[in-house]
Amino acid sequence: MNVQTGTPAAARPYRPDFLREVEREVEGGEMVKMCMQCGVCAGSCPFGPHWEHTPQKLFMMIRAGKRDEVLGTDSMWMCTSCYNCVVRCPRKLPITTIMHGLASYAQRLGLAPKMQPTRDFSLAFYDNFRRGGRVNELRLTLWVYFKDGLVAGLKKAWSMRRVGLGMLAAGRLNPFELFGGHRCKDTKGIEAMLAKVQQIEQRGRAARH
Ligand code: SF4
Ligand code: SF4
Repeated sequence: MNVQTGTPAAARPYRPDFLREVEREVEGGEMVKMCMQCGVCAGSCPFGPHWEHTPQKLFMMIRAGKRDEVLGTDSMWMCTSCYNCVVRCPRKLPITTIMHGLASYAQRLGLAPKMQPTRDFSLAFYDNFRRGGRVNELRLTLWVYFKDGLVAGLKKAWSMRRVGLGMLAAGRLNPFELFGGHRCKDTKGIEAMLAKVQQIEQRGRAARH
């Protein structure tokens, strides 16, 4: 409950302190206030027509305090890291970093849209990599094929049978990868490296507070 307005926190559509929150919690967030709303990023983004909110609009919404709308949208998950916007932004905002930072912050808070394909794939990729210290491509491909159910998976696998058989013949596909496959020798080292990354990220956030 907001003691000044008497409005329940969850029902408040605007959070005037949201820009400050983004500056603290999102990598590159301290640059959002530098956006001059020229629209170059929106016009340069190859995914522009498919975004609900372009980067330009997201930055405007952050400054307007539209916290729930920003963190709940799937727009930043659409960023392909092509860096078109970054090289053209007259204010040199690290737009790509901010897009991924916003997505990651929404995920940390449990506000990211469920069933968003990029989010789902990112989580599956990370889980796959983390198990053996390298990506098991066969398992990841099967996850992509069968994530929408058995029938959809079988249809996709059938439609790609020529590619699969070609890879098998060329020795680029090993069915035994399904039962473990290659693993990084030093999986403990990988765990330690990931823990260190988390530690560095936390330290970065703490420094921005
Ligand atoms: S190009 Fe840069 S300054 Fe222009 S709207 Fe996009 S982020 Fe803002
Ligand atoms: S880096 Fe992301 S936001 Fe920027 S132009 Fe490419 S897809 Fe669009």
